Amino acid sequence: MNAPRQIPFARPWITDEDRKAVMEVLEGHVLTHGPQCKEFESEFAAFIGKGAHCVTVSSCMAALHLSYLHFGIGPGDEVIVPAQTHSATVHAVEWVGATPVFVDCDRQTGNLTPQGIASAVTPRTKAISVIHFAGIPCDMPAIMALATQHGLKVVEDCAIALGARYEGRHVGLFGDAGCFSFYPVKHMTTGEGGMFVTRHDAVAQAVSRLRAFGVDRTHSERSIPGMYDVPSLGLNYRMSEMQAALGRSQVRRLKDIFKKRAELFERYRRFLGTVKGVRLVDSTDPKAASGHYCVSVVFEPPYMARRDEIVMRLNVAGIGTSIYYPHPVPRMTYYRKKYGIEPAKFSNASHLSDHSVTLPLGMHLENVDVDLVVATLSEILNSLN
Ligand SMILES: *Cc1c(COP(=O)(O)O)cnc(C)c1O
Repeated sequence: MNAPRQIPFARPWITDEDRKAVMEVLEGHVLTHGPQCKEFESEFAAFIGKGAHCVTVSSCMAALHLSYLHFGIGPGDEVIVPAQTHSATVHAVEWVGATPVFVDCDRQTGNLTPQGIASAVTPRTKAISVIHFAGIPCDMPAIMALATQHGLKVVEDCAIALGARYEGRHVGLFGDAGCFSFYPVKHMTTGEGGMFVTRHDAVAQAVSRLRAFGVDRTHSERSIPGMYDVPSLGLNYRMSEMQAALGRSQVRRLKDIFKKRAELFERYRRFLGTVKGVRLVDSTDPKAASGHYCVSVVFEPPYMARRDEIVMRLNVAGIGTSIYYPHPVPRMTYYRKKYGIEPAKFSNASHLSDHSVTLPLGMHLENVDVDLVVATLSEILNSLN
């Protein structure tokens, strides 16, 4: 018997130009504090759009942590966070000693809603954190109006939302900070890495110092080599020149990346529409343009309770899968033990975590792969009847 065709869940897209760009850095002498990071920051800003100021960092989690540190959020403060997200979104709040206040998501999109956020605001609330789930942008104008009304900072977790726009404006440009990830399975990669994005040059300058030990001047700003002062506390959350060179090479291909993802997603959407008992996580908001990060399928009756069985059979058939996200954050052991929040308070997030599967999407796929994934899923579902 032939081995079934393998369709991995995700693969980083690394080309010869990418390898060449990294090797060029290694053939020189500047491995950090160099021109690659600077160029990457301005090229990424050009992609995000007018008004973006960018700071390269070691990860999205670092960008999130720097956001709260910079805004001076800490013990006694509350930060509204989504229940349905990566733990990093909430860890960053925990690390500054503030209290995360979990809000359930919308069942259709997985995103926070302005109403949900409004119901969680208290006199102690200092900030709102949102994630644009599956690449679908949140209703940012409404969320920003709410934030302005209550004088709150907004931190956008854009780790899976590159290419997502609301009313034509890229996510990360609405709030006070936008945090992007270049982890291997995201839209583009630098191995590990991230970008802090803000509309304010002064914020970018301050965060740039904060992520480099809090020193007061960069190498190029020093009149005497090695001479600097440290006026404030800082961290080392820098990106290396090798990573930035890889990032620059990848940014040049973003157009291809979004074109392909959109085509594959549309094909999934069309074919999954003919399969009974499944629902695609998607948005019907005409102002929301998705970055098509992933294809998350939610099982409905009669398959709702059979997710794990369906996943195992997909994997046996050679189809890689994942789950976005495996548990709502308040259900993760650390948060459950610390806060013990009633699961009924995040039932939509639990619904997504417990009854969905995320199917392969990315540059490693062809149209025929989508056809095969949907046909295989369909066969598995039929056999369960
Ligand atoms: C992947 C992810 C992160 C973490 O990104 P890193 O760059 O690995 O720190 C944060 N938030 C969300 C929503 C993610 O999906």
